[in-house]
Amino acid sequence: MTDQSQILDAKPPVGQADVAAGLAEVRASIRRAAEDNERDPASVALIAVSKTVPAEGILPALKAGQRLFGENYVQESKGKWPGLRERFPDAEVHLIGPLQSNKARDAVELFDAIHSLDRPSLAAALAKEIARAGRAPKLIVQVNTGDEPQKGGVSPAEADAFLAACRDAYGLAIEGLMCIPPADDPPSAHFALLAAIAARCGLPILSMGMSADYPAAIQMGATHVRVGTAIFGARAPKG
Ligand SMILES: *Cc1c(COP(=O)(O)O)cnc(C)c1O
Repeated sequence: MTDQSQILDAKPPVGQADVAAGLAEVRASIRRAAEDNERDPASVALIAVSKTVPAEGILPALKAGQRLFGENYVQESKGKWPGLRERFPDAEVHLIGPLQSNKARDAVELFDAIHSLDRPSLAAALAKEIARAGRAPKLIVQVNTGDEPQKGGVSPAEADAFLAACRDAYGLAIEGLMCIPPADDPPSAHFALLAAIAARCGLPILSMGMSADYPAAIQMGATHVRVGTAIFGARAPKG
């Protein structure tokens, strides 16, 4: 197996990466990983993570046929996507970063899916804004599979109860689960845990796998992989 982290170390920064070539490579790796695991490659959706990439840097991906994108920040997305969507009305944008409850209105208006639902106060805010807007993004619950204090997501021990509360107390239809494994752990055990919770709760979407580990996530059943660096190049470290 290729060491994904070696490929990533060699990635030029955002703005200098060959986006169309990166996309083609990632699509080919997804196909290989699916076929190696006797899965239909069409059962794995690629979310191209374009956070911090300016609109002109996203255009090459749109021109290469990519239509599904992931963003982390509501404000940044408000600046970039209305213009891009005018040119590419079938583009779909998913929020994959943490969401503050006071941005729930913007998020419901902007995004086709939200992958970071992880607490009752946010469930309540989203339910209210969905009713108001008459439009519902797909909702995915984030699980903090490593129980890391600095990371969003419900604890695996509380996932079933939170999913039941989303349905019964807030009337929300939850379609899947998302996780970001701890940086220092082998990811496969985390992917397997997420898959097990989704299976017992009857949830079809498994959002897991990033540039460094998406082949392993596909092996464990990912339906959505979220890949940024391998497509758009290395982002500047957060300041
Ligand atoms: C940034 C981000 C990604 C993409 O990470 P890469 O390592 O650049 O592929 C995926 N998921 C989430 C939640 C992110 O914040």
